[in-house]
This record gives sequence, C-alpha cells and structure tokens, in this order.
Amino acid sequence: MHNLPDVGTLRLELDDATLREWDATVLACSEEGIVLDRSAFYPGGGGQPPDSGVLLWGGVQTRIAGARKTVDEVYLVPVEGEPLPPAGTAVRGALDDDRRSALMRTHSALHLLNGVVYRDFNLLVTSAGMEPLEGRMDFDLPSVPEGFREHVQQTCNDEIAADRQIVVRSMPREDAFAIEQVARAARDLVPAHLTDVRIVDIVGLDVEADGGTHVASTRQIGGLDIVKIENKGKGFRRLRIRLHDAS
Ligand SMILES: [Zn+2]
Repeated sequence: MHNLPDVGTLRLELDDATLREWDATVLACSEEGIVLDRSAFYPGGGGQPPDSGVLLWGGVQTRIAGARKTVDEVYLVPVEGEPLPPAGTAVRGALDDDRRSALMRTHSALHLLNGVVYRDFNLLVTSAGMEPLEGRMDFDLPSVPEGFREHVQQTCNDEIAADRQIVVRSMPREDAFAIEQVARAARDLVPAHLTDVRIVDIVGLDVEADGGTHVASTRQIGGLDIVKIENKGKGFRRLRIRLHDAS
C-alpha cells in the first residue's frame, strides 16, 4: 500500500500523521489539480475525507479545498479562482490542523468502536464514514441486544482511558491475512496486486488493513458518545458517534 519509489507523489502522511508543514516541488498543474513530489494531504479513502490546507510560494497563497487520488498521483484541488503554481515551483505545504487532527481522532475512534463490537459481539462492520468529530458505522445486526448501546459506549470510553498504543506498520500480505480479524474483515477489500498491507493496530484491541491517519494512542481520542442507533432495514444498524474533549 506504500507509494512506489520514483512514481508519482511521495505520501508523507502515511509515515508521519503528525506532519503539518513541509517543502515540496510542483510536478504538474492542470485542470485536474496540482501534483507535488511530496505531499501530506490525505486524499480521502476508507471513510476518511480529504484534508484541506494551503500552498505558499514566493509570497503567494493557494488555498487547497481537498485532494483525490489516482493509482499513482495525489491531485490537490485548489479553491476556485486561486492563483496556480506552475510546474517546477518550490512550495511550502501546510494542512488545516484543526480539521486533520479532528479527523485523526474520529478515525481512531471508529477503529476502537469496531474493535469493541467485534470482540464483545462478534459483529463485522459493513461500512463507515466520518466528518470531523462525528462518525457512523454500519453493522449487520438484526436485533439490538438489551443494553447494547450502554455497554458499547462505556467499554469504548474504558478503552480510551486504558490509553492503548495505536501502531501503524506495513507487513507482507500473507502475514496480514494470518490475523483472523484482518482476514474476516478485509480479504475482499485489499487490492489483489498489493504485496504489502498497511496495518493499523490498536494494540490488544483492534487490527485493520487501513490507509488512513490516526492518533498515537487511544487517550488522544477524548470522549466518545453513541448518539444514535438507526435501523437501516434488512438487519443493518447504523451507530452514530460524536467525540468530545475528555472531561
Ligand atoms: Zn480505517
């Protein structure tokens, strides 16, 4: 899942989710967007929406509204009407820190929720999505057990307080799929051509194949409320969560 060397954009956020400013060179600039040689803009995926931010070059500012990814390029999408840096321009990139930091907490919260529901109820998530500090996760759950919401919310907050480490690493495909939770959840989701799989491990709780950005330990998530359990029909239930600062 890691970027290939010498092809397209080097994805800085995959190795360092805390990076917020960096130097780069514009490789291409067209109506498709701006391509940098090095970028920390998360291009969206796995339920995590793209980052926003800014490029600074020679006293000029280009606001970036979002980003998207093709097989080997990350395209930054400028705010309409912004000045565009031509290919070859040296730029300084910077992310909207509030947005990205909130998305990291939210994405990690969804993995933590997934781990609790998988461990305690043996349920697999069917889809997930998020905005800063709000997330949703769908489960195949025909009937909601008595006390489900209270149990899950309390247990999630206990696991946050336990301050489990969140470790990101790549491993060979066959090693990743030897992990039961990864095999059950992701066998059909990881593209067949990938020889290495990026794993996000909430140590002792949850292991997922994932390309997103995460906080370093569960306490950084803050507080988690399950605000709603919706019935989406055909046995699907949607859990909606909201994060707040730890009290
Ligand atoms: Zn994820």
